[in-house]
Amino acid sequence: NHRMGIIACGIAWNYLMENFPDGCPYPALKVTRYPFPKALAREMAASCDAILVLEEGQPLIEERLRGILYDPEDRRWTKILGRLDGTLPRTGELTPDCVREALGLPPVEAYSKSKVAVPRPPALCQGCGHRDFYTALNVALKEYAPTARVFSDIGCYTLGYMPPFNSFQTCVEMGASVTMALGAANSGVWPAVAVIGDSTFTHSGMTGLLDCVNAGASVTVCISDNLTTGMTGGQDSAGTGRLEEICKGLGVEPEHIRTIIPLPKNYPGMEKVIHEEINYSGVSVIICRRECIQTAKRHAAANKKA
Ligand code: SF4
Repeated sequence: NHRMGIIACGIAWNYLMENFPDGCPYPALKVTRYPFPKALAREMAASCDAILVLEEGQPLIEERLRGILYDPEDRRWTKILGRLDGTLPRTGELTPDCVREALGLPPVEAYSKSKVAVPRPPALCQGCGHRDFYTALNVALKEYAPTARVFSDIGCYTLGYMPPFNSFQTCVEMGASVTMALGAANSGVWPAVAVIGDSTFTHSGMTGLLDCVNAGASVTVCISDNLTTGMTGGQDSAGTGRLEEICKGLGVEPEHIRTIIPLPKNYPGMEKVIHEEINYSGVSVIICRRECIQTAKRHAAANKKA
C-alpha cells in the first residue's frame, strides 16, 4: 500500500509495530541514528503519496524532509504528515494510541478502571532522611509564611512536592534550585531556600552556589545528603565526605555551613538551625546528612556476609 510511507524513529517504531502486529502494510523506514538516510527517504517518497513521520521530541526529521522531498519529474513536493501539520500532537510524548490515530486506524477499546488495584502515587521510602528533613523544614518555615519560597531539585527528594509534605514551590532542572533561590532573593523574596541532593549539588548546584557567594545573596541552601545517588539506584555520589570542604572552597563562611542529622528526635535542633541560617543575611548551607536507607540496608547485609 503506497498511500503513504512511514519514517519512524526510536520508540516510535515500536508504537508502529504495536499497531500492526501482523506487519506494516505501508513501506516503512526505521531510523536509529543521525544523520538520517536522505537517499532512502527520497526513494520512499518517490513511490508514495505522502510520508508520515513518527518521532519523539522535536520534529527534526520532519522539518528537514520538507526541504528535500521534491520530485523534479512529477514536479511535486511530497506531502509530509507528522507533528507539524497536526497529524500527531505538536507537544508531549507519542503513544501507541496517538500513532494509531495518525495511521487512520480505529481506536482500541479502552479498559475501565480497575476496582481492585487502587492508584498509588510515588512516595519517599518509609524511614528516608528526606522525610525528616521536610518535616522539620515545614515546621520551621511556618513562621515565615506566606513569603517563604522553597526551590527544589531533581532526585528522590523531588517527591517532597507530594502530600503529605508539599514542601516546595518549584522544581525545574538539575541545579535550578540554587539559581532560582538566588534570583528570588535578588528580587526581594525572603526567605529564599534551595533544597538540593548531594549528587545533584556536585552535578550542577556548585556553580549556582558560587553565584550566590559572589552576589552576597541571602539564600539558604539545604543539601539533603543521603551519601549516594538514591534516585538511580545507589551509585556513588561525587562529593561524599567532602561537601563541607567544597562549600568552603566556593566561599561560604565556615560558621554558616551547618550539618544536621535528619531524625525525629533531632527535630527541635534541626528547626533551630534552619531558623538561624534563614536569619543570617548572607549565603548559608545546611547539610542534612543521613544515608539512604536502601543503600544502608545493602551495606549492612554485605557487612554481615563479610
Ligand atoms: S531510595 Fe533512599 S533516598 Fe530515595 S526515597 Fe528511598 S530511602 Fe530516600
